[in-house]
Amino acid sequence: MSVVTVSDAVIEELKGIVGPEYVLIDKPARYNRTRVPAPFPVHRWGDYVPDVVVLPATAEEVSEVVKLANRFKIPIVPRAGGTGLADGAVPLRRGILVDIKRMNKILEIDLEDRAVTVQPGINMLKLNEELKKYGVFYPDDPASYPCSIVAGRIGTSGFSLISSRYGHTRDLVMSMQVVLPTGEIVEVGDGGGRKLRKSSTGFQLKHLFMGHQGTLGICTEATLELVPRPEAEFAAFFGYRDFEAAYKSTGAMTKSGLATLAAVVLFDDKKVQYLRRDDEAYIPQPKSVNSVIATAIYGVEDEVRAAGKRLLRIAKETGGKYLGDEVSQGDWASRHDRYATPLHGRLLNGQVVPMCWHCEDSAINYSVIPKVRKEWHSIAERYIKKYEIFDDWGCFFYTNAAYKPWGDYLAEIDIGIWEQRLNEENWRAWVECKREITQVALKYGGSITACHGSTREGDAEFVPVEMKGGFEVMKRIKKALDPNNIMNPGKNMLDKAYED
Ligand SMILES: Cc1cc2nc3c(=O)[nH]c(=O)nc-3n(C[C@H](O)[C@H](O)[C@H](O)COP(=O)(O)OP(=O)(O)OC[C@H]3O[C@@H](n4cnc5c(N)ncnc54)[C@H](O)[C@@H]3O)c2cc1C
Repeated sequence: MSVVTVSDAVIEELKGIVGPEYVLIDKPARYNRTRVPAPFPVHRWGDYVPDVVVLPATAEEVSEVVKLANRFKIPIVPRAGGTGLADGAVPLRRGILVDIKRMNKILEIDLEDRAVTVQPGINMLKLNEELKKYGVFYPDDPASYPCSIVAGRIGTSGFSLISSRYGHTRDLVMSMQVVLPTGEIVEVGDGGGRKLRKSSTGFQLKHLFMGHQGTLGICTEATLELVPRPEAEFAAFFGYRDFEAAYKSTGAMTKSGLATLAAVVLFDDKKVQYLRRDDEAYIPQPKSVNSVIATAIYGVEDEVRAAGKRLLRIAKETGGKYLGDEVSQGDWASRHDRYATPLHGRLLNGQVVPMCWHCEDSAINYSVIPKVRKEWHSIAERYIKKYEIFDDWGCFFYTNAAYKPWGDYLAEIDIGIWEQRLNEENWRAWVECKREITQVALKYGGSITACHGSTREGDAEFVPVEMKGGFEVMKRIKKALDPNNIMNPGKNMLDKAYED
């Protein structure tokens, strides 16, 4: 596919739309918006620099920028916080990068009908700091909470750590405004007022615009759920002698029917070993602890007290040992910055080297957790032995289903990669390793991704496999909405829509 460069005439038109100071063509501005914190495509990131960065302030400005791009068939990519771990915001074909961070206002806080309307560039932490004054919060809670932005949560259809109690991004965004790839501004969501949680009129278009990774348009406004701030929170960590015991205990806890249970996370032995040797946030535990379950309960005080007691009982009856208040409070609080610290890993010879982080975030059923885990670790082991630039940072399994702790799981294997050693050979090896990991999830009836999306080599090529006939529908929708393939081209295998 040819790469279209942006001419001086187009730059001048862009300046006319958003104002000259918000059109950036200097090298630092463009390079700063190139990569995301993930191994792909780091070792070639000079290939993915946008030609120009624009910072619009309104939906109308976004619309004019998109119309211009469509007229000249210039690739255009929306970027929010740039923390997405699947390279969604990386401009594969250069072109215009639309940084939406100036669009960061809260437009309306509606306490009566429990909704907040925002511009999409608002940061998650900032939004909740403001909402705190009113005793409410927006309960979408990724580990990247302090640095991710509402638009990126919508673009990826993100995973919330407290989803079993409150739902994920897709459940919490009530409606939104989108600039389509041809520049029209449309509203999607239930009901004319856009503050309804459920209707059955027409197609359920809201979901089409969740997780499309900027391939179907640019979100310019969103109305989000507001819930009361929880009166009480109970976070408890339990230690187990082995993975098998912890796995069974996870099943008992999640199937208990506790409505206030917000999260159950199962860390396997490899993850515990990694935390022991590398993570400053980790509080030392006896050697007998080989797997850990982290739990959180949110609600009003009376409910939380009773549910906490029940949870402690279930854990004890299934072989868990409460790890104490210090671990619970400290470690649960550190869930937002565990990976924000400088990263390092170890080679086979024990040498510590700077490493970047890749996480595979498949969705799988409870029953297949042991098999998936075993196969993932053995794939990682083969590549670690052969190439000596990878490190296995272990697996964890997170309750995934909104409002249903007994539902399925986000399964993640974290792999450290020695970035400076990603030459062509090691790069190909890593792509192969990622392919093998992805295929295991599909083999067991899972999904390639539960939150980050599948927009890079090593998993994107499996989108048609997972979607089956649905991929044909995706292609038709893409071509109908984006006739010139300008919106974030090269992602999700959607170029195929233009092949016939
Ligand atoms: C330390 C760390 C922990 C993380 N933990 C989690 C986690 O627990 N759960 C989770 O879900 N994710 C997690 N992530 C990944 C990431 O933070 C999320 O995927 C987040 O949703 C991306 O937000 P962002 O604002 O950085 O978006 P970006 O990376 O800027 O963009 C993400 C995608 O959305 C598209 N996009 C951006 N703006 C718009 C727009 N206006 N309209 C349409 N599309 C748009 C982009 O093109 C891109 O495809 C983590 C990342 C890090 C670094």
